[in-house]
Amino acid sequence: MRLILLGAPGAGKGTQAEIICEKLSIPAISTGNILRKAVKNGTEMGKKAKAFIDSGKLVPDEVIISIIKERLAEPDCARGFILDGVPRTVVQAEAIEKAGIEIDKVVDIEVPDDEIVKRLSGRRVCASCGASYHTVYKPSADPTKCDRCGGELIVRKDDEPSTVLERLAVYHEQTEPLKDFYAARGKLVVVEGQEQVADTTALVFKALEA
Ligand code: AMP
Repeated sequence: MRLILLGAPGAGKGTQAEIICEKLSIPAISTGNILRKAVKNGTEMGKKAKAFIDSGKLVPDEVIISIIKERLAEPDCARGFILDGVPRTVVQAEAIEKAGIEIDKVVDIEVPDDEIVKRLSGRRVCASCGASYHTVYKPSADPTKCDRCGGELIVRKDDEPSTVLERLAVYHEQTEPLKDFYAARGKLVVVEGQEQVADTTALVFKALEA
């Protein structure tokens, strides 16, 4: 299964990607997580990406395209993969296509903007492994620690309200056109994001079977 998860920031792509990848035993690849790790490690790529991420803008396409081509060439992707947060522009989608990377389905998780703003204010992420939590919808056992690795849970800098509005604007302008791009290729399935994580998961699996 080669899958793309599409949707606004905070729609639940990362959470669903974690669940699906475990059920299907395929890797979930989040360019956001890869970039945040690069920023944390102070690599050249991280230094270039930081200002874009902090201001809610997209990192330039050529950086993303090289990250994704390199990652998808790794052996663990041979049986399938889930792309979370990539592609985010038509240029990125075209590059994936041109590289001969086949995609089976694109699941678009729809959540209204006002709900996104509410959700992102409760999001917490593990500073160590990138796992995603929510204070109400997906709390960790200890509110300060990651259930998976024990890492510290933090609020992402780009989840601050002013940056969230910019990210939503960027989503509507640059990422939403991907719905038409993949609908035209017969690959798009749309799922309404639910309040409960498990309810969205059930809809995603139903959509994948269709
Ligand atoms: P995410 O964790 O997917 O919400 O991504 C966080 C930030 O990383 C985004 O707001 C962008 O600045 C950057 N980013 C992640 N993935 C991409 C992508 N595919 N294209 C451009 N920028 C990206």
